[in-house]
Amino acid sequence: MITVQKAKSIIDQYLNQLDSEVVLINESSGRIINHNLEATFPFPRFDNSAMDGFAVRSIDTVGASQEHPASLKVIGISSAGVPSDLTLNPGECIQCMTGASIPNGADAVVIVEHTSGFTDNDTVHVFEETHSGKHIRKMGEEIQKGDSLIVKGTRITPSEIGVLASFGHRKFSVVKKPRIAIFGTGDELIEPGEILDDGQVYNSNLYIFADLVKNLGGHVTMKNVVKDSKESLNSFLSKALKTSDVIISSGGVSMGRFDYVRDVYIGLGVKEHFWKVAQKPGKPLFFGTKKGTLIFGLPGNPISAYIGFMKWVWPALESIMGIPKSKPITGLLTEPFPRENCKYRYLFGQAWFENEKLLCKPTGKIGSHMLSSSLSANCILGSEQGENPLQPGDKININVLPWKHIK
Ligand code: AMP
Ligand code: MG
Repeated sequence: MITVQKAKSIIDQYLNQLDSEVVLINESSGRIINHNLEATFPFPRFDNSAMDGFAVRSIDTVGASQEHPASLKVIGISSAGVPSDLTLNPGECIQCMTGASIPNGADAVVIVEHTSGFTDNDTVHVFEETHSGKHIRKMGEEIQKGDSLIVKGTRITPSEIGVLASFGHRKFSVVKKPRIAIFGTGDELIEPGEILDDGQVYNSNLYIFADLVKNLGGHVTMKNVVKDSKESLNSFLSKALKTSDVIISSGGVSMGRFDYVRDVYIGLGVKEHFWKVAQKPGKPLFFGTKKGTLIFGLPGNPISAYIGFMKWVWPALESIMGIPKSKPITGLLTEPFPRENCKYRYLFGQAWFENEKLLCKPTGKIGSHMLSSSLSANCILGSEQGENPLQPGDKININVLPWKHIK
């Protein structure tokens, strides 16, 4: 049995970033960008109007008011997408719409509400004095050419999609989705929707795994409940080893008479890097590799499988997808936390802010078969080994479930 730290350092040695592929912008949501993106032009790209109004020479509006409007000659229109090539001479102005290029000679825009309005007349009355730069969005005021926009390893969300589109990127390179085979083993497992017989339980773990993979942005290529028989395991795994970047299993990896998963992996040429980690739940964790494929064998108890996935598989997947490591956070317990003598202890927990402090507590039911303890959880709490339980007020590590929020 090895420590959690040792197991992490072993896994780290086998995490290589996946290759890249080009995707279209409208298919890029949730993908991980694999390069730094810089601005290829300044933004705005040209001086343009922030409002609908008249582009003027501010000097021509000096002293203008409702009672004494400045009377200017309207010489043309600049609209969004159709700039005017005219140059303003003293006493002249141009109708200028939001987003339209500022014509030569103009240095301010007077909003239409402060004029006698858009008409076909040759003159317009301007009811206010303006100043140079007013209602003009200056070229490059937001972003200079060469500025950093998006850094490598960022997940594409609506914000990234918007900025990528603003800079004209119709397609770009992202990290390939990891191809993931997941399987559960157990003669007692049947699928939701079927009728339970004596001794049977519904397979819940593979549904958890599949949803976690989806959440992270992986691609489940194979998903099956396999019988506790060497033949069935062999046939699933020999195919999975050829077609997957990662194989994740639940069950059949402990000390039971029918726990064949480890033997079958080894028989198929998988190199075992460790089996059994000093942790609760999930001690009989298996990690191996074959060529580029990472293999995680998690025990079948639903909480062991779920927490095991979050603590071991999720960070490994993030790493091969090029996602930067998240920073560890700690909170203060409001209830005791049961430590183990010689094992790292994980429990689903609740974390919340109170008086600017991050507080937390375990969610209650602590058995590794008690999946409902995850329902009210927004995090996983974790503590090093120790003689006695941690007490209210003690610090503990918090791993926020990425799809939950701390309120
Ligand atoms: P094992 O790790 O195979 O010894 O299984 C430990 C416990 O987890 C047993 O009670 C199994 O019935 C249960 N179990 C195993 N796989 C699953 C699964 N896919 N879904 C729900 N429970 C499971
Ligand atoms: Mg079993």
